[in-house]
Amino acid sequence: MAEARPRPDKIRCDACPVMCFIADGKVGACDRYANQNGRIIRCDPLTVLDRRIASGGEVKPFLKADWDGKLAAGDDLFVTAVGSGTTYPDYKPAPFLVSRDVDGVDFVTVVTEAIFSYCGVKVKIDTDRHLGAEGATIRCRGEAVGLMITSEYGSQMMSLGGVDHLTGGSKPEGRVTCDALMRLCNRESVELAVDGGASVVVQAGQPPIVDGTKEERMRVGCGSATIGMFAAQWDGLVDEVVVVDDHITGVVSEHQAGKVLGWPDTGIKIKGRRSTPGRYFQVAEPGLGWGGTDIQDPLTILGDWNPKKGARPGMTLLMVSTTGEQFGFYILDDNLVPQSRPLPETLKPSVDLIEENCEPALCTVMFMGGAGGSLRSGVTRNPVRLTRSVQQRKTVVTCGGAEAYVWPGGGITIMADVTQMPDNAFGYVPTPAIVAPLEFTASRDEFRALGGHDASVRPVEDVLEHGGEYGADVRAVAPKPIKT
Ligand code: SF4
Repeated sequence: MAEARPRPDKIRCDACPVMCFIADGKVGACDRYANQNGRIIRCDPLTVLDRRIASGGEVKPFLKADWDGKLAAGDDLFVTAVGSGTTYPDYKPAPFLVSRDVDGVDFVTVVTEAIFSYCGVKVKIDTDRHLGAEGATIRCRGEAVGLMITSEYGSQMMSLGGVDHLTGGSKPEGRVTCDALMRLCNRESVELAVDGGASVVVQAGQPPIVDGTKEERMRVGCGSATIGMFAAQWDGLVDEVVVVDDHITGVVSEHQAGKVLGWPDTGIKIKGRRSTPGRYFQVAEPGLGWGGTDIQDPLTILGDWNPKKGARPGMTLLMVSTTGEQFGFYILDDNLVPQSRPLPETLKPSVDLIEENCEPALCTVMFMGGAGGSLRSGVTRNPVRLTRSVQQRKTVVTCGGAEAYVWPGGGITIMADVTQMPDNAFGYVPTPAIVAPLEFTASRDEFRALGGHDASVRPVEDVLEHGGEYGADVRAVAPKPIKT
């Protein structure tokens, strides 16, 4: 009788191109797979969203050992790709192809942890403070990981990661980029430095910390919009109001809102480029001061007051920032020079109203990736049919159960809010690339029509009882509350 061959010390993980050899009891290079008694297992359990938990129902850990075999209705449970494992190379069916009955219709969800080389995050940071010039390089631990992109209304925007930073630069650049992306997607904090700008600590769902100061409020609007919103609140209480803003500084006596109210001229002079009446660009340089400018003293944006156009001693002036955090009240002296005075009680409610209308400042992290590559082969033998089905909205794409926005046009380019996903939904492989959960859901008929791997489809009961190729542990969590 032939002798049994001694078990090799290490076995190979084939879940990604790195192909680690892993010794018994050890984990591979990505910490996601381990060798347990000579078998490659996925270290994290498969995550199932259980809507009964969200609605206050019974919390049932679907660990195989604990599960009593009873199932809720199919639409209560959603098998996410978190912990599902990866297939490599991609022509193999995805790790889980799960069928479930929803309102009498048979649906298939294809579940895989996808390896993304073409991916990154778009970060929206609610702040007026100037973080850096558009196009400026953003660094993490000294490595270039992205750039500042066009500001949005009340927010500064970053584009981080992408294939050029992951694969096109030096090894450290790729490694640091991958690590920063994974931590941001897992809702951890990451410190970033903008060339020629600020340092900012970013964490999804949390306020940004700019140069060590936590941002409290998102501005109510630009200076012109603030005048438009609150001009009537100031009418009759003060002679002039200036809302200081890096983008559009507003002046009530000149602004259309003031004109409609019959506001008299004041002879005020604003330094800056006049756009339209009562709206001024470039009153100062961008910075961390009033309204996202670099000024600490708002009077520096004023020129001489003109008595021929209405300026007179005793005239009152309110200057306020777009968040209401900074304000000053002044009275023109005999030489028409503004002198600082305490804010009158009558004006406090209007300043408070600006503050009250500011929303909390938050960081938003949107994962963005291209799912139009080889991973489609884990769904179908004819990948373009999946692309077409997604574009026709016959197949729904989710990331860890979170709804994904699919960009129009070619391919399957998705964007998803990381705060809507289960904890630690993202991983990495040291190629370097990000591992993200991805689910495609279609009716069984559509799945068959697009050439899906129908023979590999298993009922959800079977998945819960037997797990998959890389293990059987399953955890149930509540879906994230839908943002309103
Ligand atoms: S990096 Fe991870 S997934 Fe890739 S072969 Fe190694 S253990 Fe497996």
